[in-house]
Amino acid sequence: MKRKGFTTRSLNVPYPKNDPHHALQIPMYGAQAFEFDSAEQIAANFRGEYAAHVYSRSSNPTVEYFELKLRELTSAWTALALSSGMAAITDTMLAIAKSGDNIIAGNNLFGHTLALFKQTLPDLGIEVRFSSLKSSGEIRRLADENTRAIFFETVTNPQLEIHDIGMIVEAARHLGVLVVADSTLTPPNVFSGAESGIHIEVMSTTKYISGGGTSFGGAILDYGNYDWSRNPAVAVYEPRFGRNAFIARLRKNIYRNTGGSMTAQTALSQIHGLDLLDIRVERCYQNCMHLGRFMEEQPAITQVGYPGLPGSPYHARANKYFRGIPGTIMTFDLENEESCYSFMNKLKIIRRATNLNDNKTLVIHPWSTIYAEFSADERMAMGIRPTMLRLSVGIEDPEDLAEDISSALE
Ligand SMILES: *Cc1c(COP(=O)(O)O)cnc(C)c1O
Repeated sequence: MKRKGFTTRSLNVPYPKNDPHHALQIPMYGAQAFEFDSAEQIAANFRGEYAAHVYSRSSNPTVEYFELKLRELTSAWTALALSSGMAAITDTMLAIAKSGDNIIAGNNLFGHTLALFKQTLPDLGIEVRFSSLKSSGEIRRLADENTRAIFFETVTNPQLEIHDIGMIVEAARHLGVLVVADSTLTPPNVFSGAESGIHIEVMSTTKYISGGGTSFGGAILDYGNYDWSRNPAVAVYEPRFGRNAFIARLRKNIYRNTGGSMTAQTALSQIHGLDLLDIRVERCYQNCMHLGRFMEEQPAITQVGYPGLPGSPYHARANKYFRGIPGTIMTFDLENEESCYSFMNKLKIIRRATNLNDNKTLVIHPWSTIYAEFSADERMAMGIRPTMLRLSVGIEDPEDLAEDISSALE
């Protein structure tokens, strides 16, 4: 039977247990704790012989349903929901690497991921080796017997660079190393980690999946395609948990002990976000294409960046990996920094804010905000220019967005 479409599948994931009222929406289980019928039953639960929710920092029925939906929609072997995208990345790194280990990561990363990799992980004895990830030779030269993963973002922000994912996966396979991708900008309706050969996907569900700036969240997906006996930190869980070794190390150690869980309230928002995801992304994409074509015609705009546009150097990879929808973040350049400020201040519909994938279109000047703490040389090396603005394109009517841009350029 032909696989149903994304939205149909999202709306039809069965609940793990029947609802006594046949509610068409999963209840929001705000409880911290869950009771047991007998002392024997609670003891059996703690021995791992009777599965049930105990305490919501470890697991919760509403959060479990969100995880189940993520699994169904991605074909992941397991899914884990967390309090934020940073919690998902941190927990993944702490699960796979210990002091003395190293990770190879792309140069262009989300700001706080970069800070985690440059400050927090090195303090714990985990080294991060940065790479352009442009050739398998470069990856091989950086790797050694303590390399635990290659980490990259599916579309980098704000450079909007798309790596040769096939090459990275192949290089990692030769080395026997895990591949971890942050797919925040390319949610599961446009990107399949499983088909791309990635082992672990991490994402900030704060962005698209929250449904438009409703709540903070993160997720870790394990595609069940990595041999965990190759990773010393996870391998100790293998004899007992087999293919679930990674999730067991998270649930019984890192995730539970560091406390970065998602709340039931958030899970409910994010469940609705998943149901509307494909519709919203499609609308944002159409807006990007409309604005891209419009901006390419504006003499005041010197450069437009969006891999969905045929002129982009990453257009072929956008088609290959993301069904032609490489997220809905765009960049464009004006004459100088002053013109960027003046443009931003004249906008009436587009909001000045730093989030991504809200329902509202957001604009920011990355040079003077997100990357201001880096030197001018460092910023230029990261592809951050003083003349560049970043747009996170929302679901407004495209003509209104174009008109807002047009009058702000005057
Ligand atoms: C926002 C973002 C994160 C961090 O997510 P939070 O939910 O803000 O913690 C990580 N990676 C990428 C690519 C992001 O855009």
